[in-house]
Amino acid sequence: MKSKFLLIVITVLFFNLTSAQSNKVDILKTNNGSLKIQPITHGSLILTYNNKTIYVDPYGGGELYKNLESPDLVLITDIHGDHLDQKTLDSIDTSKAIFIVPKAVADKLPVQYNSKITVLDNGQGVHRLDLFIKAIPMYNLPEERGSKHPKGRGNGYILTIDGKQIYISGDTEDIAEMRALQNIDIAFICMNLPYTMDINQAASAVLEFQPKVVYPYHYRGSEGFSDIHQFKNLVNAKNPFIDVRLRDWYTTN
Ligand code: ZN
Repeated sequence: MKSKFLLIVITVLFFNLTSAQSNKVDILKTNNGSLKIQPITHGSLILTYNNKTIYVDPYGGGELYKNLESPDLVLITDIHGDHLDQKTLDSIDTSKAIFIVPKAVADKLPVQYNSKITVLDNGQGVHRLDLFIKAIPMYNLPEERGSKHPKGRGNGYILTIDGKQIYISGDTEDIAEMRALQNIDIAFICMNLPYTMDINQAASAVLEFQPKVVYPYHYRGSEGFSDIHQFKNLVNAKNPFIDVRLRDWYTTN
């Protein structure tokens, strides 16, 4: 009897554990509904609001997107292969999707995408699908020739969805434009070396602009993963009210 009970406990635990791993979706209440947040991998994620599906930097192969809603909107931040991944794009049904991209990305997308594309430069914004999308700078410091991410090429984005502001950093360091952000409800913040910034820069910036919720993302660097637990410690030691959400962006299910 006892061993049977133990078996049930173990089975329940096992299933809870596996479903927790595959259940990567977070729900955030908005003014009139809810926003679904789904980490995919590295710098890619999917947001869903009011039956509209937004892909950010689809990357990592079609398998990751196979059973998911096809996009109504695709946002791309930069030209590098972990953001503009043509092979993955080709494997996704983008027939109903509009694309919002920086000019450098538009120049690289095949011509058949032309009619779908809206180009935003840093600082520009546009209304699409009941949301407002604003492009903001993302770049490396110091600004110099040969920079991996020169200012003006790529876009970070701020999405305003039903009263909530969502910031997607793209590949950036802790630039003044990020530190000056206000009223951000959810922030996706990159942290990987040598491409973007380290966890100390990321924590310092987050403590300055104080998003309500922050997801470390894009945290695989050339030396492995950044210590996102330590990032959370750094943030919460100085501001326990910022909700730092650690998700596994790299285990594929
Ligand atoms: Zn990247």
